[in-house]
Amino acid sequence: MSFRKTTDFLIIGAGIIGMAIARELRECFPDQSVTVLEKESEPGFHASGRNSGVLHAGFYYTADSLKARFCRDGNREWTDYCLQHRLPINRCGKVVVTRDANELESLDELLRRGRANGVELQPLDEKQLADIEPRARTFSRALFSPATSSIDPQLCNQHLYQQLCESGVHFSFNNAYHSHMKEAIRTAAGTLSAGYVINTAGLHADRIARDFGFSDDYTILPFKGLYLYANDSLRLSTHIYPVPDLNNPFLGVHFTVTAAGKTKLGPTAIPAFWREHYRGLQRFNLRECREVVRLESSLLLCNSFGFRDLAVHEISKYYKPRLVRLAAPLVDDLRTSQFTYWGRAGIRAQLLNIKTRQLEMDFRCEGDERSMHVLNAVSPAYTCAFPFARYLVDKIRSLRK
Ligand SMILES: Cc1cc2nc3c(=O)[nH]c(=O)nc-3n(C[C@H](O)[C@H](O)[C@H](O)COP(=O)(O)OP(=O)(O)OC[C@H]3O[C@@H](n4cnc5c(N)ncnc54)[C@H](O)[C@@H]3O)c2cc1C
Repeated sequence: MSFRKTTDFLIIGAGIIGMAIARELRECFPDQSVTVLEKESEPGFHASGRNSGVLHAGFYYTADSLKARFCRDGNREWTDYCLQHRLPINRCGKVVVTRDANELESLDELLRRGRANGVELQPLDEKQLADIEPRARTFSRALFSPATSSIDPQLCNQHLYQQLCESGVHFSFNNAYHSHMKEAIRTAAGTLSAGYVINTAGLHADRIARDFGFSDDYTILPFKGLYLYANDSLRLSTHIYPVPDLNNPFLGVHFTVTAAGKTKLGPTAIPAFWREHYRGLQRFNLRECREVVRLESSLLLCNSFGFRDLAVHEISKYYKPRLVRLAAPLVDDLRTSQFTYWGRAGIRAQLLNIKTRQLEMDFRCEGDERSMHVLNAVSPAYTCAFPFARYLVDKIRSLRK
């Protein structure tokens, strides 16, 4: 069967990665058509509209990773974008603090990684830390990252979407990708044909990739991130993060200052039971629930990558006093009563290697002359979106027939 080509490029998913790629394609191929297929009724409905809104600086990642390659430049590009278009940005910086002597080695490793990645970092003693944020606590030493900041991801998504519409990108909302047969792409609204397919479907990217013969060794393991908002009695001047466990992709419970200056605590990394398991039984999917629960049970049993300890530790954070207690070593005089409401949950599309049973730490892209699949676009993919999109479009240009 043959179909009239409906679009030169078909992007599946109007999250930040899909939209950043659309922008890059428009720049590189102004004469070719770009269509974005989105199953929801608006752009950025999932992770791209539910994240911490932190523009990371790029000092957590080893220099050989894609995350390190794109984070520093992505931070600069988003900063310029927000300033140019008068979108809110809070250039509050970030401190990384230690809780005891055992964490000093990891703090030094962060400093080494920052230097290798060309990211500005300032080592601090306790007095210098107090000058930046008097309420922050540390064990003898800390780090300051001046480039880390906060934006409002929902406003950024909306702004980018408007710009793309004006530049001629076509969006098809409420229209899910279903399957494909050679060049025919079956969607909820009918069948179309695309010159090149780019899968940026976030929580569902692994399944779509398998449909095209990719992502054989991987599956998405969803982790829920929740935030607890503080009232105005707790206003901090900078983000405060603990030293992370560098073997794990999550950054630990931390304080984020939002673009509007509010303080929030979190996010958690609680194992979810289906891919869009935001709250209660919302968006319940029996097939996914069976798959995810089976997988999580076997990870619990074998304690692969410390999953059992992680799950027990994370689930306890649903209890507000416990979450606040975990954050208490980072900030002086913290009280549960200062935290008034939970924010909108977000879910990380974390990739698990089924063979090694380890979490994938870096972004992954797999593709050929007909399609490209973006897997594991987890944090800091929002920060990285523009340079990551340039890298992907370069790859597509060299592969495409
Ligand atoms: C709790 C949390 C905190 C985070 N904090 C930060 C941070 O501070 N800084 C940072 O840089 N990053 C952060 N991130 C990471 C960042 O939000 C994500 O990496 C980024 O948003 C991923 O974008 P995406 O476009 O790949 O995915 P998504 O935003 O999930 O977009 C994928 C889109 O594909 C659509 N889709 C799925 N299946 C189909 C289908 N079959 N047909 C059509 N459309 C489909 C979905 O509806 C969705 O709109 C955080 C993430 C979470 C969850």
